[in-house]
Amino acid sequence: MQLHDASKNTKKNASATLQVDPQRCPQDHVCPAMGICPVGALTQVGFAAPQVDDEKCILCGKCVRLCPKGALALK
Ligand code: SF4
Repeated sequence: MQLHDASKNTKKNASATLQVDPQRCPQDHVCPAMGICPVGALTQVGFAAPQVDDEKCILCGKCVRLCPKGALALK
């Protein structure tokens, strides 16, 4: 029987991806979620909605919980 090696899975919810909804983001401020992301996966051009680097994102959900507009979601 093959046992799953959980130590190799750094993502908490590997079946999901972090998605940004530009319709929910007011796009009039520096995104505070960039400062809370532990791996620097969020970037922003001007005041536009943030962009996610899926290669870096570990799906921790910190940005999802921080954004008061619900513009970031794990789906
Ligand atoms: S889910 Fe976590 S790792 Fe991914 S962008 Fe948000 S704060 Fe960064």
